[in-house]
Amino acid sequence: MRVVIVGASGRMGLAITRAALEMGDVMFVGAIDREGAAAVGRDLGELAGLPAIGTRITTDLAAVLSDAEVVIDFSSASATRGNLTICANAGVPIVIGTTGLDADVHGVAELAAQQIPVLIAANTSLGVTLLLELVRQAARSLPADFDIEILESHHRHKQDAPSGTALALGRAASDGRGVAFQRDSVRHHADGGARPTGEIGYAVIRGGDVVGDHTVAFLGAGERVLLSHQATDRAIFARGALRAAKFLCEQSPGRYEMGDVINLKTRT
Ligand code: NAD
Repeated sequence: MRVVIVGASGRMGLAITRAALEMGDVMFVGAIDREGAAAVGRDLGELAGLPAIGTRITTDLAAVLSDAEVVIDFSSASATRGNLTICANAGVPIVIGTTGLDADVHGVAELAAQQIPVLIAANTSLGVTLLLELVRQAARSLPADFDIEILESHHRHKQDAPSGTALALGRAASDGRGVAFQRDSVRHHADGGARPTGEIGYAVIRGGDVVGDHTVAFLGAGERVLLSHQATDRAIFARGALRAAKFLCEQSPGRYEMGDVINLKTRT
C-alpha cells in the first residue's frame, strides 16, 4: 500500500510510521507536515527512531499524490479542510483521524466523498469502535430516565475538548435514544442547579500522559451501567488507521466509518 501521511512528525504520525514499518507491506510515498516544522527535510524512518527509509518530510501535499493510493491525516483541524479538497482533486482516498473538525469540514467531506472514499474517525481503535456500538445499543435499550454522562481523560497537550471520541460517543448515545445530537453540555457546575432531564453531559480531565480514557455512564434510580475503554498505547490508533487505509483503497467514493472497516455495525 502506497501511503502519504499528513502530520507525519506528530505523536500519531510517528506511531503510524512505526506500525506501518512493522507490518512491512506499507510504502510511504510522502510525509507531510506544516511549513516551519522542525522535522521538515528529515527522514521519516529516522524521526520514528528506526533506520532511514528515504522519505523526507515536506510541506506540499498535492506534490506527493501522483503515486499515492491513500492519504492518512492526523494533523490539525485547520489543515484537514484543505487536505480533503486536494485529495478529491487528485482522486486519492483519505482517512482522517484528526479531531476537532467543525460542521464546515464535514460539509467539505460530503462534497469530497462524491469523488473519493472518505473515512473520518475520531478514534480508530478496535475497542472504541465496539464501544460506540455498545453505547448505541444501551441507549436504545434503557429507558430515557437513565441520565447519560460521558467522562474523558487525556494527556496535557490535547488541544480539543471534549475529545472527538467523547463527541462520537455522545452521537452514538443520541442515535440510540432517538434524540438530536448536542455537543455543548460540558459539565462545569458554574451555573449550579439540578441536572436537566434528558441531557447527555460531558466531563473532561486533562493531565499527564493519559493516552485516552472514556466512560459512558447510564445513571438510573438504584443502578448504573458503566461502559469504558482505556487506551494505553497509541499503537492501537495507528494499527486501526492503517487497517482503515487498506479498506479504503478498495472502496468506491463515499463516506465510511470504522464500523464499516471491522464489520461491527449493528444498526438497521
Ligand atoms: P501532534 O500535535 O503530536 O501532531 C500533529 C502534527 O500535525 C504535528 O507534527 C504538526 O506539526 C502537524 N501539523 C499541524 N498543522 C499542520 C498542517 N497545516 N499541515 C500538515 N501538518 C500539520 O498531535 P497528535 O497527538 O499526533 O494528534 C493529531 C490529531 O490526531 C489530533 O487532532 C488528535 O486529536 C487526533 N488523534 C486521533 C486519534 C484517532 O484514533 N482518530 C488518536 C489520537 C489522536
